[in-house]
Amino acid sequence: MNQMTRLVPAPLPDLPDPDVCWAAFLRRDRAMDGLFVGCVATTGIYCKPSCAARHPRRENMSFQPDPAAARAAGFRACLRCHPDAVGRDRLAVEKAIAFIEAAEEVPLLETIAAHAGYAPHHFHRLFKRETGLTPAAYARGLRAARLKDALGREGRVTDAIYEAGYNAPSRAYVDASQHLGMTPSAWKDGGRGVSIRWRTVDSSLGAMLVAATDKGLCRISFGEGQAELHARFPQADLQPADAELDAIAARVAMLVDDPAAGADLPTDVRGTAFQQAVWAALRAIPPGETRSYGEIAAAIGRPGAVRAAGTACGDNNLAILIPCHRVVRRDGSMGGYAWGLDKKQALLAKEKGK
Ligand SMILES: [Zn+2]
Repeated sequence: MNQMTRLVPAPLPDLPDPDVCWAAFLRRDRAMDGLFVGCVATTGIYCKPSCAARHPRRENMSFQPDPAAARAAGFRACLRCHPDAVGRDRLAVEKAIAFIEAAEEVPLLETIAAHAGYAPHHFHRLFKRETGLTPAAYARGLRAARLKDALGREGRVTDAIYEAGYNAPSRAYVDASQHLGMTPSAWKDGGRGVSIRWRTVDSSLGAMLVAATDKGLCRISFGEGQAELHARFPQADLQPADAELDAIAARVAMLVDDPAAGADLPTDVRGTAFQQAVWAALRAIPPGETRSYGEIAAAIGRPGAVRAAGTACGDNNLAILIPCHRVVRRDGSMGGYAWGLDKKQALLAKEKGK
């Protein structure tokens, strides 16, 4: 398999800071699975961060970068969380993405799962957990993106439709209404029919706007107020904050200093399948690390779509929570940031503990 189809950033040989590791165990953070394991001195076993088992005392847990290192240190795998399976699961999802990409038409779930070597039901859950999308949604988003490409090239619309992998034009129009007509943030009709509560809150990097629908956070930004929120969601019903939003906003403000602490905050981000995949890949970058735009494109199985991945990073509505600040240029320079390079620099410096 082509290594460019990597779905999530590979574990680095360096171990994250032990406090970061411990915090990941305390909140059972699935996004951290595969990046390190925790070894429990009293039981002799090692676990992945999301393990459901009771936590040992802090002084009884040490950390290793991967299962092999834990075994070399004399520990054995937990029978409850199967820490050795994390790598296998990710490889299976990568394999499935390569298969979907290469297929002429959207493959059946059963076919994709069999190709990856899993039972369909289990694989569906696994794929969704790793990518944030079902296999079918991933395939549909891919096909719609290809149609858009082909429409720009082909002389005849029907040629473009067949070239993109549709076997009938009618399916293409259904998909097109769902994917092609979307604005970058994909809020239909400027948020018509949606009620959004909002407030500003002080943080150590300045005032932040925090806005949420009844499903979750829809906008986190710096230096914005009602006018900017209205411009983004012109048809939405903007409401003052209630006690629930006050509590969420307080946690958002703390994210500036502790970016790992927001994993369980509810979100309501709407976008194309491609954007959703990019945003999921961003959330998989551990605090203190950075990726290039090319690595993000490769991580979602679209290594050729570097520029589109950069655009999707820029369309991110949730500053810090979806950490687009962790994406830099391949040459190490900062790249862009919607809220100013000084904030990007400050956030990265905080995460690296400088
Ligand atoms: Zn375990």
